[in-house]
Amino acid sequence: MKDDKSKKTRSLRFDKQILFVNEIAGQYFCEKKLEMQHIHGRVETDLKTMGAEAHEMLIDDSEKVSQEELFLEIQKKKQVIAYEMKLLGEYRNITLFGRPDCVFFDKGIPKTVLEFKFSNYKKPFNDFHIQVGAYCLLLGKMGFKINELYYGIVMVNPSVKDKKNLINSILDYTSKNNFIDPIVDFGNARMYFCKYNSESILNELNWAIDYWTRQREAIPTTNQKKCMSCEYNKKCENSLITI
Ligand code: SF4
Repeated sequence: MKDDKSKKTRSLRFDKQILFVNEIAGQYFCEKKLEMQHIHGRVETDLKTMGAEAHEMLIDDSEKVSQEELFLEIQKKKQVIAYEMKLLGEYRNITLFGRPDCVFFDKGIPKTVLEFKFSNYKKPFNDFHIQVGAYCLLLGKMGFKINELYYGIVMVNPSVKDKKNLINSILDYTSKNNFIDPIVDFGNARMYFCKYNSESILNELNWAIDYWTRQREAIPTTNQKKCMSCEYNKKCENSLITI
């Protein structure tokens, strides 16, 4: 059998075969932290646990279908909300994989990608935009029309009591495809809508992938506040705090 010479074999850090979009986003918080997670293992935090619980709520009432059934539904029905849809595509000969919280389809076309984030901050960090932007990119790589695609990032205050009700109101609002206001408040949550821009996300991906392909080393944060909340600050040689 002949080798497929058009497909270079890439050796990625930590022997990865696939890059996960949420890990790429993690590089923007602190690349050193991402590296520490691979070396020392993931440490659970209250925010991570809360995020996982909310995601469970999100898919609670949804019907479980195969990817094939989902594609048929998307083509058949006027509106479909796909929860944790598997997105896969290749960039720079590397397979990227991601599962956004929700993708809203209208007549077979993805209209909005929505991601929920639990944080005391009201404004989304750059890494959140990159994560959701990469999901949009993958939708395009899977053959969907993305020229009119928007994404929403919902910043939810962790103190929110009735998460289920809040999530339902946000889903209801988003399904109306109403992008008049770029920022919408829902009590303890604020939603930011943006138009997807492929150029900026490709630039970011190039920077991020250079780490995985060993073209550069992990870059630690220069923000001391990040080190203060970091689970690895006692082990990290680049920590900006003295303990
Ligand atoms: S202590 Fe600071 S530099 Fe080190 S991994 Fe954590 S956030 Fe990054």
